Amino acid sequence: MEYKDVIGHDLVVKSLKKACENHKMSHFYIFEGQQGLGKRSVARVFAKTLLCEKKGIEPCNNCNSCYKFDNRIHPDFKEVYPEKDIIKKGQIDELIKFINSSPFESEKKLIIIDEAHLMNKEAQNSLLKSLEEPPNYIHIILVSSDTKNLLPTIRSRGQQIRFYPIEGDKVADYLLNTLQVKKEHALFLSKLSNGSLGRAILLSESEDLFIRRDWLLELIDGLIRKEGFRIFAAVDYFYSNKDFTEELLQILMLWFRDLAVYKMTKDINFVINRDKEEFLLKQSFMDFELINDIIEKIQETSLNIQMNVNFQLAIETMLLKIQGEV
Ligand SMILES: [Zn+2]
Repeated sequence: MEYKDVIGHDLVVKSLKKACENHKMSHFYIFEGQQGLGKRSVARVFAKTLLCEKKGIEPCNNCNSCYKFDNRIHPDFKEVYPEKDIIKKGQIDELIKFINSSPFESEKKLIIIDEAHLMNKEAQNSLLKSLEEPPNYIHIILVSSDTKNLLPTIRSRGQQIRFYPIEGDKVADYLLNTLQVKKEHALFLSKLSNGSLGRAILLSESEDLFIRRDWLLELIDGLIRKEGFRIFAAVDYFYSNKDFTEELLQILMLWFRDLAVYKMTKDINFVINRDKEEFLLKQSFMDFELINDIIEKIQETSLNIQMNVNFQLAIETMLLKIQGEV
């Protein structure tokens, strides 16, 4: 892994390189941003750079240190992961022993704590103590998709590096050129994944996603033709696919946005579901006001479900809205 393999995050990479160039590397970083952006990959390249014997702004990939890093046998590098969704004090205590012993081969020791917000309180407190006066050779990188669950005292100590969603075009290009995903699917996946390459890759591996989209499009088609009986089956469907609620709602949202855009422009090139023009054409008789109301309702439903309101009721009301009944 090298910086050139990182998709997006040009500014982050630039600032990390600059820190190396000016020898102003922080001893404690917090890499934050939603899941699947590639934060850990960047953290690894950065760690590899700091350990590299050439001491450049990126790894040389030729020295003994780079070799050991790539083969995961570098004695001065440690990565901590959650075990069953939790990082316990015991893991951090182990880590502190590592922190307190001098480097074996390099001048530095590098630590990555992945999903760091999953450290429980005791673990965070334990880590905090070691952050008070870290040995000079130590560099710690916390990687987190949910920094609000880190103690404020930890957050305030770290240099925060924010990762933003990757531009849709870059995600689509990667899917298209590297993973050979079909062109019409690449764009859709890039939007659905909200700029998270990891999620886009995961979604691209699942045939079920497109089966779910087809199911939803048939449902919408029926609902707007006032086939009220569909609602019951649909609620069941949402119920049995509860783990995918967020995804289903997002597919619906993208669909109605497409419908509004298509109605306005009559140009398939402006929509995301490009392979579904027949449906767009069929449904474009719906009026704008209703389409906008539906989009708002889907957003509201998503929020309500996150706040644990009655699932069935939330879905039912949304479907009635699509039907134009409420
Ligand atoms: Zn090297």
